Amino acid sequence: MYNFLLSLLIKDMQAFYKQLGLVNTHNLFAKASQGGYAIPAFNFNNLEQLQAIISAAVKTSSPVILQVSAGARKYANQTLLRYLAEGAVAYAKELGKNIPIVLHLDHGDSLELVRSCVESGFSSVMIDGSHLDYEANVALTKSVVEYAKLYDVSVEGELGILAGVEDEVSSKTHTYTEPDQVEDFVKRTEVNSLAIAIGTSHGAFKFKPGTNPEIRMDILTEIAKRIPHFPIVLHGSSSIPHQYVDQINEYGGKLENAIGIPEDQLRLAAKSAVCKINIDSDGRLAMTAAIRKVLATSPAEFDPRKYLGPARDALEELYIHKIINVLGSNNQA
Ligand SMILES: [Zn+2]
Repeated sequence: MYNFLLSLLIKDMQAFYKQLGLVNTHNLFAKASQGGYAIPAFNFNNLEQLQAIISAAVKTSSPVILQVSAGARKYANQTLLRYLAEGAVAYAKELGKNIPIVLHLDHGDSLELVRSCVESGFSSVMIDGSHLDYEANVALTKSVVEYAKLYDVSVEGELGILAGVEDEVSSKTHTYTEPDQVEDFVKRTEVNSLAIAIGTSHGAFKFKPGTNPEIRMDILTEIAKRIPHFPIVLHGSSSIPHQYVDQINEYGGKLENAIGIPEDQLRLAAKSAVCKINIDSDGRLAMTAAIRKVLATSPAEFDPRKYLGPARDALEELYIHKIINVLGSNNQA
């Protein structure tokens, strides 16, 4: 009787994110892997970011991953975020396009957090055990996959450590993913995608001035050989466009030595085994640049819509550029 009730409950829960109109990443990654492009994963914390993401994805006919970190849940409130995501699906339809939308937890660090996200409608989660030793990472990731499978939620794991700072995740050092470990990790954990460390880095200050930012395509190729057609994820993949940094500094900001990953390298990665590219810092820069300009040039302005509106427009323009010129996911919805 207990088992029967439990199975009914699970059946009901399985439909949860699907009831919101969201999808998991399984089909999206299979198509991206075949088609030689990557799905954009844009982080959001507020209304304007979400509007810009959905509008850009609809205009380019691209599938999209709405990415939420633990920090974003704290900032925006988890209940509001869940309804924002549901609203995003309806908003896309209203704009005239039924694009596939994923709601994904970025850098989950425990089964408890994953559980809370799945129960509030997430269709995909990342479990980041990359700071643990290898066996502990395998065990944690495996436990999350076993749980997520019950609800048809997809799981991203991580091997290797990215340097840099992203919300609560930070590391001073960088450890490249060991190609010899990926096959064993994927087999034992049964994850659906794998984030790797090949030289990308979290935040806006990825590299020392004067150094040449470079993705280790040789490691990526080696990894793809060990796990053919397996979806690979790149974190820390913002390009830190100069125009935003310059505009921020021109209007009173002080960002020194901000350096990112060149977009042509990301384009190459998207054409290979990489199926998902995370973009967060570039959006933060675009927004800040637009807001600074309005506040500096119209000092009497105090209507938030007058600076958040232009920030939203700048974000949308950035996302459209990324989708078409970096990810290549346009017309794949
Ligand atoms: Zn990350």
